Amino acid sequence: MTSPNATSPILGIDLGGTKVEIACARLNAEVLARKRIPTQAQDGPERGLERILETAQDVLARAEVPAKELCAVGISIPGPWDHDAGAFLDLPNLPGWEGYPIRQKLEEHFSAPIHMDNDANATALAEWKFGAGRGYDHLTYLTMSTGIGGGLILDGRLYRGKNFNAGEVGHQVIMPDGPPCGCGLLGHLEALCSGSGIARRLKEAVKPGSSLMWELAGGDPEKLTAEVLVGAVRKEDPLAQVFFHQTLEYLATGLANLVFILNPEAIVLGTIVARNPDLFLKSLERMVAERVWDVFTADLKILPAQLTDQIGVYAPLAVILDALNLEPEELTK
Ligand SMILES: [Zn+2]
Repeated sequence: MTSPNATSPILGIDLGGTKVEIACARLNAEVLARKRIPTQAQDGPERGLERILETAQDVLARAEVPAKELCAVGISIPGPWDHDAGAFLDLPNLPGWEGYPIRQKLEEHFSAPIHMDNDANATALAEWKFGAGRGYDHLTYLTMSTGIGGGLILDGRLYRGKNFNAGEVGHQVIMPDGPPCGCGLLGHLEALCSGSGIARRLKEAVKPGSSLMWELAGGDPEKLTAEVLVGAVRKEDPLAQVFFHQTLEYLATGLANLVFILNPEAIVLGTIVARNPDLFLKSLERMVAERVWDVFTADLKILPAQLTDQIGVYAPLAVILDALNLEPEELTK
């Protein structure tokens, strides 16, 4: 095979708990075709893989790229994995998929090399190479969605750790004996500040008639979400403001821990922060600064993620570029 260049085609698979995005693109990020399908995780991994392969065939046909011309296949998966086996570990978003050797299964269908990483690392790489983190050598990325994942760019490269699962920043303890986290332990950042953590805390805090949030949720505690909280904060609902401030304090505590340990130049925050930067960023900058030494905040930037809608293409592409040791700049010249 000729060495990869800007126009070499790749196949990207962004596997999430609810949807899968499959894209054919060139290494220079030009998208040729893409398609999104529901994951239907409950059907199990064999059926999931079949549907991914059917969709990949369709995407490649529309892109007019024969599978044998692909220079690489990249896959981003929603959580920790076994690097040696290329298999899923116990993923809360994909119950019943544990142990499935997805990399080997893909190798049976594609002659191109398969490159794999978890979604937090893949998104950190994507934001670093194409998005808000461009130009920073010391970058910490937090997903801020249903859970809180993290990706650490340290000294100009992704830090993976011994088992390739470093960066679980959502599972740092913020409140000993605090509420239970999805992982089963107590008081983690994810239990307090993720979408699911906020929803769980709102369910306890919001009673009928106590807040605009109750009305925004239509009187259904199951509909008390982070979006409802943000909507009520924008309407200056007192309980929402107190709750939101408390949530920012927890988040700032988690970020301050990371700043002390990692000394980043930039922290990039995804999902709810990326959608509401005006509500989050100024307060977080101030609260983090109150919690760390000045030397750490002199040049520290806290930034919203930029690739939100396009991440399904950029995340697997960034995994491939990282594996091939290529920078986007080298490919756009
Ligand atoms: Zn946890």
